[in-house]
Formats: sequence, structure tokens, C-alpha cells
Amino acid sequence: MKRTLAAGIAIWRQKGILWPFSMVIRAIKCAMYRVPRGLIVEPSQGCTGNCAGCHIPSQPVILNAEQLETWLETSPAKPVTIHFSGKHSDPLASPEINKLAETAEKNCSMLSVSTIGLGLKQAHVYLPVDRWIFSIPAATEKSWEILRGNKRFMEAIEAIRTVRQSSRAMVEVVLTLWKASVNDIEIFNQLAMKENWQHTKVVFGRFDPEGNHFGRLENIALDHKASPYILRNNSLTLEKDPQGCPLAGYLFLDATGTLRPCPFTGDESPHTATPNRESWNTAKDWVRQKRNREYPACTWCP
Ligand code: SF4
Repeated sequence: MKRTLAAGIAIWRQKGILWPFSMVIRAIKCAMYRVPRGLIVEPSQGCTGNCAGCHIPSQPVILNAEQLETWLETSPAKPVTIHFSGKHSDPLASPEINKLAETAEKNCSMLSVSTIGLGLKQAHVYLPVDRWIFSIPAATEKSWEILRGNKRFMEAIEAIRTVRQSSRAMVEVVLTLWKASVNDIEIFNQLAMKENWQHTKVVFGRFDPEGNHFGRLENIALDHKASPYILRNNSLTLEKDPQGCPLAGYLFLDATGTLRPCPFTGDESPHTATPNRESWNTAKDWVRQKRNREYPACTWCP
């Protein structure tokens, strides 16, 4: 809530006095039509990380701006927020990112992008984005190398500097804790002070039963006392009974143009690839199922 408020205030300063009113009108319309207020969009299946142990498709599918526009036009209510993110992928890998951002910006009140911070190009800095979220898995070169299998830590730090210097958008840096970076919090806080990062957060990495990406069992930060996961009888489980759904207010549009309940559910859970009013109506029922955590992927959601 504090993060959302901070983002809202930062964006309000840029967008002018009337911005909150247009946002409230969008939010009311979303509530009236029972459409989630946020849409997470995966611009591409590609990634800029090339990390060890993470396998991306040899020919990553790209979401094009027309597909995004069609989904948005067929919705009974435009989203308040659109968030570019990835599922084992990174938005900056998309050659369509500029057009997607222009389309998104016209159709929402707040556009954010979440990136691993690698492969930043000069053109990315000028995307019409309200909020950048840089997600780093480690705060030292050593723990970075263990996790990513490369030496690109400083490239990510440099990308954050570049965006902070050149863009008026809010910039947030998130440290995701994994086994190799479980002791990085203090160093992260020192780095934040040195770099003058105004908005930071520390979160735990999420277990990925598919074994892709960092979320493999061997990477989970089980040693931390606040870890949401524990090993019970040699199998991983959430330590506490989870409440609700952390993404209840969002839907996910993946790079193939398929609408899903969230980035973690796959083909075993409901999804639709047809952008029309009926699909949006079907998606209304997903909210209750999400809140009740009825999908297989919900087992692993802290
Ligand atoms: S996996 Fe389930 S609980 Fe987690 S965000 Fe998706 S729907 Fe919500």
C-alpha cells in the first residue's frame, strides 16, 4: 500500500492536477463492470539476461501493439494500471516495446515496467513509463555471479543510474532474496544509500515447480528466518497458510496474446486467446477463484 501511495504521489506531480480524477473514474468503471483494475502484460517471451540454467524459447513470441490494443478495446473498462513484466522473460527484450508502451499509455492511468536491468538501450529511457521497477537478485558481484552465471552486476547498476538520470519516472529497486543472496540485505541498503535510491524493497524469491529460472529448489532462501517457505518431510511448503491472492486486482496478458488469471498459472488453469467481450466476461469469474486460491499454481504463492 505504501509503495502504491508513493508511486501515486510521484506520478501525480508529473501528470498534473486532474490526473487523480481520471484515475478514480477508471477505477469506478472497473468496479462497475467487475474488471480487475490492473493488467500485467508480457511484451515478449525473450529475455536480456542469458542466465545459466534459464532456457528461453529459440524463437521467442512477441506481443504486438495491435494485439494489446484489441484486448483493451474489447474490455468493458480500461485498466487503471498496466504493468509490463515477464514470466521467465524481460520486457526490454521486445523489439515492439516502444509501440506497446505508446498503446498502453493511451489506455491506462499508470504504466510501469519491471525489468532485470540488463540490455537497456538509450531508446528505452524515453519510454512513456510512469514507474520503473528494477528487480535485482543480489547486491554483490559474487552472489550475482552465483545466481546469474555471468558478471553483469554493474551493468544492472549502471542501467538504474541511466534511467534515474534521464527519466522523470519514479524508479524503484527491488532486491529479490535467493539462497546465494540471503545475506545481501545490509549491503543492498548501503548500496541504496550510496546510489541515492529513493524507493527500495526486499522480497523473497518465489518457488517455481517447473524448475525454470531462479525459482529452482536449490535457489530458495530457506536459511532466512523470514522465508515464506520451509522444508517439511523433505518437501517444500509454505510456512504459513496464505491469505487471499496477492494479484487479485490484476489479470495477465502473455506474449502470445492469451489472457490468464496471473503470470503463474499455466494451461492447466483457465485462459483465453480470443480478445472479445465474452472473454472479459469469463475472466470476471476468475477473481473469486483467485481469492480462494483454487489454481494449482496458488500452492506456491506466498
Ligand atoms: S498463483 Fe494463485 S494466489 Fe498466486 S497470484 Fe496467481 S491466482 Fe493469485
